[in-house]
Amino acid sequence: MLRVGLVMLQGARHAHIRMLNSASEECGVPIEVLEIRKLEELTSYNPNALIIPGGESTTMRKIGRDRASRLIPGMFDWIRDNPSKPILGTCAGAILLANPKDGKPPLINADLNRNAYGSQYESFQGPVHSSLFAREFPGVFIRAPRFTSTDDDICAMHGDEIVGVKNQKVIALTFHPELSDDNWFHKWIIENSQED
Ligand code: GLN
Repeated sequence: MLRVGLVMLQGARHAHIRMLNSASEECGVPIEVLEIRKLEELTSYNPNALIIPGGESTTMRKIGRDRASRLIPGMFDWIRDNPSKPILGTCAGAILLANPKDGKPPLINADLNRNAYGSQYESFQGPVHSSLFAREFPGVFIRAPRFTSTDDDICAMHGDEIVGVKNQKVIALTFHPELSDDNWFHKWIIENSQED
């Protein structure tokens, strides 16, 4: 069975589980969702794909660096060591991928500004065009960061703004696909994973 890891440090995690389960059903690929809070869980489960949800990146860094977890920065090395596994970072997850702060190369090659649209009042929903699916996707932006530049492939645009980048199998989105009613990014993860 395909094993999909879900980083459970903080933030919008449970909606990802719902989306993964519906994507699994529609793809006809049975999956097991593994909740990951500690580095030992990541290395022992060794999932076939990993999702890093949105939330608050500062809090995630703090919880993840705690001795009880050590998921940060260990998870970044795990991603570097597993280039064939699909990784999806949403919002705060995208911030961590762009700026792992571990003195090593970032997981996506993009600069972004945190909270660049303003406060919670400036959270919004809007159409995103994804080149991965060649169609529109409903974008939910919550205190979202903004990409200022990237050397990676662009996989999602909101108007003329870059809202998703893809570096090989690492996708970073500034919006929350798990909070829409569209599971295509989760299907992409499942379809691009390989059982071992
Ligand atoms: N503003 C958050 C941060 O800076 C990200 C928001 C989100 O993940 N929805 O980490």
